[in-house]
Amino acid sequence: MIIVKVGGGKNINLDYVCEDFALLVKQNRAILIHGGSWKRNEIAEKLGHPTKTVVSPSGMVSVYTDEKGLEIFLMVYAGLINKIIVSKLQRLGVNAVGLCGVDGKTLEGKIKKEILIQEGERIKLLTGNFTGKVEKFNPKLINLLLENDFIPVVCPPALAKEGEIINVDGDSITSLLAKELKAEKIIFLIEAPGFLKDPNDENSLISEIKKEEIDKYLDFAQGRMKRKILAIKEAISSGVKEIYIGDGRIQHPLLGVFEGKGTKIF
Ligand code: ADP
Repeated sequence: MIIVKVGGGKNINLDYVCEDFALLVKQNRAILIHGGSWKRNEIAEKLGHPTKTVVSPSGMVSVYTDEKGLEIFLMVYAGLINKIIVSKLQRLGVNAVGLCGVDGKTLEGKIKKEILIQEGERIKLLTGNFTGKVEKFNPKLINLLLENDFIPVVCPPALAKEGEIINVDGDSITSLLAKELKAEKIIFLIEAPGFLKDPNDENSLISEIKKEEIDKYLDFAQGRMKRKILAIKEAISSGVKEIYIGDGRIQHPLLGVFEGKGTKIF
C-alpha cells in the first residue's frame, strides 16, 4: 500500500499529480489523500469570511474554524477539490471514488471546542471552534472500495464522537491511514522541491534523512511544515518504511521522488 498526500497549495499541479498517480495504481495498491487550503482561503475571502489562523502556546499553527468556516471547508475540500481530483483520475482510466472522513464514519476525531492561543505576550481562550484531532480510522468503507478495485480519494473533515463535523489535519489523517492500512510508503507532495534546510532557498534541498535523526531537522521546518514532520515521525514509529517529500508543482512528481528528486526519509 502506498499513500500519496497532495498538499493544498496554489501551485500544486493536479494534472501532473493525477497522471503519475494513474501510473502508480497500475502496479500498486494506493490511496490519494488531499488538502485544499489555498482554495479554501481564496473562497473564504471572496465570501467575506477569511480563514483565521491561530498559534498555540507551543508554537503550532492551526486554523480556527467557526460554523461558517466549517461550511466553506466542506464545500471546498469534500466538494470542489475532491470531485476535481476524482474526475481527473476517471479521465485517466482510474476508477476513483471520493470520500471525506464523514462518509461511512471513516475518520473519527475529538472536537476541541475551546483552544488556547498565543497572541503576542498573552495567552487567550477561544471558544466555538470546530477544529479537532483525528483519532480513529474505521476501515470498512475504504476496504470495501479497495476490494472492488475502486481507488479512494480521501480528504478531511472527520466526524466527532458527538456527531459534529470537524476540520482535522490532512497530514495526521495520512499517518493514521498509513498505520492502519500498513502502508510501506507515503509520499507528501508540497510546493517545494522537498524538505529544505532553508525554506526560502529552493537550492537547499535535503535529499536523505535517516529516520533516527529526524528530530535534528525539526528546527528547519517553518509554520505548517512542523506539523507535517510530526505526522512523519508518527508514521515512522508505526512502521512505515519509506517516506518521501516531493515537489507537487512539476511534471512527474511521483516518478521524480522515486528517482531521487525530493527528500527520502527512511
Ligand atoms: P500542504 O498544505 O500543501 O500539505 P503545508 O502548507 O502544510 O503544505 O506545508 C508545506 C509548505 O511548508 C511548503 O510548501 C513550504 O512553503 C513550507 N515549508 C516550511 N518549512 C519548510 C522546509 N524546511 N522545507 C520545505 N518546505 C517548507
